[in-house]
This record gives sequence, structure tokens and C-alpha cells, in this order.
Amino acid sequence: MRIAIMGAGLSGLSCALMLEKHGISADIFEKRSRVGDRFVNGEAFMSFLTKPIDDVVRYLSEEFHLYVKPASAISCLTFYSGRQKAVIEAHSGFITLRGRHRHALEQQLAEQVSSPVHYHSERTYESLQQDYTHVILATGDASYAANLRNFQEYLSVSLKGAIIEGNFERDHVRIWLDNNIAPQGYAYLLPISSTKANLVMAYPDTSAGSKEQTEKRWQLLLEAASQALQQSLPINDQFQIKNYKIGMCCSPRIGNTFFTGNCFGSIMPFLGFGQLESILTGIYAAFDLCGYGRYEEFTKPLRKSFHDSMVLRQGMETLNNDGFSFIVKQLNTSVGKRLFSSNVNVMRAGSMLLRPFTGERMRR
Ligand SMILES: Cc1cc2nc3c(=O)[nH]c(=O)nc-3n(C[C@H](O)[C@H](O)[C@H](O)COP(=O)(O)OP(=O)(O)OC[C@H]3O[C@@H](n4cnc5c(N)ncnc54)[C@H](O)[C@@H]3O)c2cc1C
Repeated sequence: MRIAIMGAGLSGLSCALMLEKHGISADIFEKRSRVGDRFVNGEAFMSFLTKPIDDVVRYLSEEFHLYVKPASAISCLTFYSGRQKAVIEAHSGFITLRGRHRHALEQQLAEQVSSPVHYHSERTYESLQQDYTHVILATGDASYAANLRNFQEYLSVSLKGAIIEGNFERDHVRIWLDNNIAPQGYAYLLPISSTKANLVMAYPDTSAGSKEQTEKRWQLLLEAASQALQQSLPINDQFQIKNYKIGMCCSPRIGNTFFTGNCFGSIMPFLGFGQLESILTGIYAAFDLCGYGRYEEFTKPLRKSFHDSMVLRQGMETLNNDGFSFIVKQLNTSVGKRLFSSNVNVMRAGSMLLRPFTGERMRR
């Protein structure tokens, strides 16, 4: 068995690591000059989206002996809508670093991997297929899966973000649900250190509007964040991503090609989270190659989560600002707060409640 992994990101490196734990070395092909060679970004594992897995870091460690260190734990979440604010004080997940940062998640995984990584790779999928018995497609985007007619796109989103400077509590994440800032989407402030934070707005391309509207919304977000933190927040570095495709592959495996991470459809449409799912697809592909079961079976729960998450997204798209304010107000009640400390999977529960109203527009 000769295995090629295309892409040294979360899913590709997790796959390589898991194969190595079972005595198999793969060849990893990365188009960039090093692992995580893109803008520094703070991301999160949010337990209210991963329950019953409450502690992702511990779960990866205990279940798979895969060790990652987050930048910090999240113990306070503040939600803002136009008129309401809810503060949830409970262990709610972890902040992770991504991209060029020396403690980035992909960097941590790369340090544990001993399979060779071929940087500046220009190898195509077709050429890898000729030279290897198995190919793991882990390129972080849907293009190969789409070219192979193996990807159903459900939506595409745009993100505009920046690293801002200020004084931040490292355990405190702030989330805005406000159509004036991120229409049918959301915005967040996620500290990556005590002096730097990521400020990001994410919304579907269908509600993106003009360049001027985006700039106006960005200014509104900056003002809202400055007001919430009672500080001016100078911008250090900015990024913009357009047309980030969210969808699901039709078959997780075709012949001896495995679709992992975003090539599989790891990004959950509701809020765009996909780190855990990407790591899991990498692990599951390795398990299949080691003979422990079928990749299609291992990934079934992830497909189910994707569809639950899509129902929530459809529900979210129907909400006006009064609707967002109603939800944030509910979060501030004892029942709302208990949701975060209970074992309830918000995605599953929300999707069951909303499915009759969204009309099951999903292909399952
Ligand atoms: C701005 C932003 C914020 C996000 N925030 C969150 C969050 O808070 N929480 C969360 O859970 N998820 C978040 N996500 C989603 C999460 O980052 C992804 O789901 C996850 O990183 C995907 O892992 P992957 O292995 O598929 O791809 P990646 O980790 O992106 O790795 C793909 C690798 O493949 C390489 N590559 C690409 N093309 C080729 C090629 N042709 N040949 C060789 N190598 C190639 C790339 O250079 C890269 O190194 C966010 C995504 C973005 C863009």
C-alpha cells in the first residue's frame, strides 16, 4: 500500500499521524512553502456545537492519542443582538490558533508527524493517483471534489476579518447576531492573546451586497466591538475570503480516493465550524486504511450533523433583528443558560425543532 496525502492541513496531518501510529508512513504533498502558510487566525471549538463531546481536546487525546494544545479555554460567551445582550459563564470550548502562528494547530500536528512532507508541490491528483495505491484528498477546498462531480454545494460565504489590538480577556468570546452587521450570518471577537484578537464577520454570499455595504457593516462591527470593550481597537492585519464553499461530498470514498476535511464537507453550515470534523475525517480515513472499518460508516454521524446544521442555517436565514433579539433574550434566561452547561446538542435539538418549518429542503 502506497499512500499519498494531498494537503498538509488539519485533516491531512491527522490522517498521516494516525497511519503512523499503526506503522504506516504516507507521502504528504503540500502546495505551500510550509505548514499553515496563511494569515494568522483564531478559531474555536465550541462545546455547544460538539456535545455530547464536551471537551474536544480531551476527547482527541483519550480516544485517539492525538494531542493538541489550544491557545486558551473559553469560559465566557457574550451574545449581542441589536437590543439584547446575554452573558453565559460556563466552560464553552477552546480557542485555537491557525495559520502562520508557531503554535497553530496544523503546526502542532506537523511536529508530531514523521512522514515526509513535500512542500511547493505541484503534483495533481491525477499524477498522485498514478504513482500511489491510495490518495487522501485533503486540500481544504471543494474544487477537486466538485471537478469529480462528487460535491453538492449548499451555500458559499464571505468572511471579512482583522487582527485588532487592545486588552482582552483570553477566555471571553463575543458574538454578534445582527443583520445590520452580518446579514443572515454572525460576527465574533475571539482573543488570540491578551493584546490581540480576531474580529470577523461572516455571512452568506447571497446577502453580501456591494463593497460599500460591506465597508459600512465593517465599521458598524468595529464600533460595536469598541463599545462593548470600552476601548479603541486599532487594526493590525486584515483578511477577506470570498466564495468559501460549504457543502457535502456525495461519496466520502471513490475507489481508493478518500475525501477528507473540507473536501469531505466538514464545515458545518450553521456557523462555519469544521476543525473537529476535519480532524475526525483524517483519523477515520486512516482507520479504514488500517482495516478497522469502512470510511463511509465512520463518517455517517458527520453527515447527519451537517444536515442538522443546515436546518439551523435555514432557520437563521429567516430571522430578522427582532428574531435575533428574541433568541439572545432567551439565552439570558435560566433555561437558556442551562443549555450551555447541559449535555444537550444544540444542533440536534434545534434541527428537530426547526425541521418542520424549514420544510426539509435538504437531500439526505
Ligand atoms: C476564516 C475562517 C475561520 C474559521 N473558523 C473556524 C472556527 O472558529 N472553528 C472551526 O471549527 N472551524 C473554523 N473554520 C473552518 C476550519 O478552519 C476548516 O474546516 C478546516 O481547517 C479544514 O481542514 P482541512 O484539512 O480540510 O483543510 P486545511 O486545514 O485548510 O488544509 C488544507 C491544506 O491543503 C493545502 N493545499 C491546497 N491545495 C493543495 C494542492 N493542490 N496540493 C497540495 N496541497 C494543497 C493547503 O495549502 C493547506 O495546507 C474556519 C475557516 C476559515 C476560513
